Amino acid sequence: MLEMKSFHCACGNILYFDSTRCLRCQQDVGFDPLEDGMRRLKPSLRLCANGRMHGVCNWLLPADSPEAFCASCRLNRTIPDLSEGRNLRHWGLMEAAKRRVIRTLLNLGFRLPTLEEDPQDGLGFDILSTTLDPSATMGHLRGVITVSLEEADDTWRQINLQQLGEASRTLLGHFRHETGHFVWHRHLSRLAWDHPSRHAFREVFGNDSESYADALSRHYEQGAAPDWADHHISAYAASHPWEDWAETWAHYLQMVDGFETCDHLGIRGGGVNLPLVILPMESCTLPPGLTAHPGEDANFHAWLQRWICLAAVLNEISRSFGAPFLYPYIITPDVARKLRLAHHFAQMWAVRAFPGGAG
Ligand SMILES: [Zn+2]
Ligand SMILES: [Zn+2]
Ligand SMILES: [Zn+2]
Repeated sequence: MLEMKSFHCACGNILYFDSTRCLRCQQDVGFDPLEDGMRRLKPSLRLCANGRMHGVCNWLLPADSPEAFCASCRLNRTIPDLSEGRNLRHWGLMEAAKRRVIRTLLNLGFRLPTLEEDPQDGLGFDILSTTLDPSATMGHLRGVITVSLEEADDTWRQINLQQLGEASRTLLGHFRHETGHFVWHRHLSRLAWDHPSRHAFREVFGNDSESYADALSRHYEQGAAPDWADHHISAYAASHPWEDWAETWAHYLQMVDGFETCDHLGIRGGGVNLPLVILPMESCTLPPGLTAHPGEDANFHAWLQRWICLAAVLNEISRSFGAPFLYPYIITPDVARKLRLAHHFAQMWAVRAFPGGAG
């Protein structure tokens, strides 16, 4: 779906998104978001200040840029207290997950100004300990995404996963989920209630005028309905249409990133010998009132089928290692319909033309 990228050093060695040094030529390297590629450090490029000072960032910026921080780090409003023992390591894990989401959004064509640059449409991050500051809660509010530093602790996250009965809980998933609330706030919340996009949203995700606070307390008291998996990508998605959207959006970004990674590594989904469920074509069409780009429904259907195929391969491989399913999700026709709308909105909201078609 995104343009295929391969990360290579000038010496020809393969590099990865988080690489800071080429293991063949021993040169320092970093990621250049302007070029969407890995580069050797050279006089025209400089490492982000968070990389230089704290070793938590490998993104580059032009040497003559007035900015100290890269396109991802400059969105930070609050960072953890680095005098505390494990905070630096946990913050580094947070920033790595955040960079991955920021790259996906930039590649999709989203403009991501800071809140200072654009108080109306900007984005900011507060990354802090919600144990030390109980007034802060994970979530999104008016362009600010708050993420709890404790979530970078594997044990903490595992306990939350067990208690909430989740199939998967990752830092990357948190950031993707919260950007779902952010784009909803920026692109949908300000539209009139009867705008075709709002109408389509209700048609697919349900009536979002339902009290959010009531829905969440009901979810935490009673859990999701037994048949939630027929209609939602996760149990939490069943709590309220806004959470359904954020979970679906997170899943959409996961697919975009997953495909890009497979393309980068030359892994193709075709030719796999598995009896797969074929999604009905109508599950990949838009609700009434919205118009698809010509051929986009069929493109999306093919894209989703290929994804289901790749997911089955990933699960079989993880099973052969005795590990839990790497992809513990089921894409039902209802879920496909939601992902289709997320794809449509992503195309609509991107500032530049969407790169290429699906596939
Ligand atoms: Zn090299
Ligand atoms: Zn940075
Ligand atoms: Zn949420």
